[in-house]
Amino acid sequence: MFEVYIHVPFCYRRCGYCDFNTYTAVDMGGGASRGNYANLAIDEMSLVKEWQERHGINEPAVSTVFFGGGTPTLLPAQDLGRMLQAVKETWGIENSAEITTEANPDTVDERYLETLAAAGFTRISFGMQSAVPHVLKTLDRTHTPANVTAGVKAANEVGLRSSVDLIYGAPGESMDDWRKSVETAIELEVNHISAYALTVEPITKMGRQIKAGTIAKPDDDDEATKYEIADELFKQAGLEWYEISNWARPGYESRHNLGYWRNVDWAGIGPGAHSHYRTSNVGAWQEHAAFGARDMSEDGFRKTDTPQIEHDVSGNQAELDAEKSMQSDANQFGVRAWDIKHPRKWAEELHTVSVPWEGSEAITHEENLEETVMLGLRLREGLDISRIEQASGCAVNRARLQAIEQSGLIEIHNDNRIVPTLRGRLLNDTVIEQVLDICGW
Ligand code: SF4
Repeated sequence: MFEVYIHVPFCYRRCGYCDFNTYTAVDMGGGASRGNYANLAIDEMSLVKEWQERHGINEPAVSTVFFGGGTPTLLPAQDLGRMLQAVKETWGIENSAEITTEANPDTVDERYLETLAAAGFTRISFGMQSAVPHVLKTLDRTHTPANVTAGVKAANEVGLRSSVDLIYGAPGESMDDWRKSVETAIELEVNHISAYALTVEPITKMGRQIKAGTIAKPDDDDEATKYEIADELFKQAGLEWYEISNWARPGYESRHNLGYWRNVDWAGIGPGAHSHYRTSNVGAWQEHAAFGARDMSEDGFRKTDTPQIEHDVSGNQAELDAEKSMQSDANQFGVRAWDIKHPRKWAEELHTVSVPWEGSEAITHEENLEETVMLGLRLREGLDISRIEQASGCAVNRARLQAIEQSGLIEIHNDNRIVPTLRGRLLNDTVIEQVLDICGW
């Protein structure tokens, strides 16, 4: 399975809680801009494809494409369509592929969505966040509750499936406010809803307000109660949890996100986007051993403060690092690489005809097993203990696993899968810590 993620790093204004890689017109400067972004992203696709070909990476046709941000729908719908067409021409795309874009509800209308549907989009994910105006204001959102209703209605009319995202725990949000948001989202009759606890990073505007004492910090107990309310109301409405923060009617789960959680390969396009390749898919890697010998930093990572970075058509330093880490260790599971974060610098690097990666790192089998445990314990399909034992060569201590089950955090199913309970979802870090502790590799 192969997925493509396209990051669109533009927003009208930055929401107070947001630490995503996104830029307003004011902090963009020259280089990549909304006007030429699609062309640059399409150029990057060609470079990634060339890089894959040079290394014998033969990916199957793309099964999901996800446009995230930022606000992808700040670009003209035709530009999103052109980027999607370029994905098709570069890698091919499955007939039943899932094609999603995120959208701020005040950036789309029926005509816009009609263009997306005609271009092949199948799904739209609206950043609803809340149905309560004072909560939207606290979150610095530009849309109104009415924009969400209109957006979902327009999406239905043109045949796009809608999902909505909610955020709980904003300062000043009462239990009744949250209940209203959940009920409003359910009334939209969408088939997929995500609900995330507000987390506030110190570097954000909201982080600074909390530090200054002008607004209250989100409260863990308040957020836990809100999670329970959402889970109960979604369940009553026929939406089952399938990942800690995601609920869907059967068959409407986000295939793109499930792919991430199942560790498939994906290409990330755009500033700050991450890519992921498994070593087993890199058929001819050894034929390119010479690449790894040049100009490596001691720890195998690109030194981002190095003033002179060597560029040539065969790749930049991060590419070389990725290649070296893939060759150097028989215990290699795969490699993760990430694009340069700032759009202007990313666009400059793109014009040097190399994949604009900022850095890369090797993923060992142990790290992959750890990630598999962490991700599996977030999913309703759970963690397959037999698979972990087979991959690690170590037996998991059943008595200790049963002790975790008795504490009410997990259920052990007959087919050897462990699935977090509601309490286990609320205390997921504890569950992960305890299970990792007994995995024994
Ligand atoms: S719209 Fe989304 S990406 Fe943009 S600033 Fe707000 S939270 Fe961040």
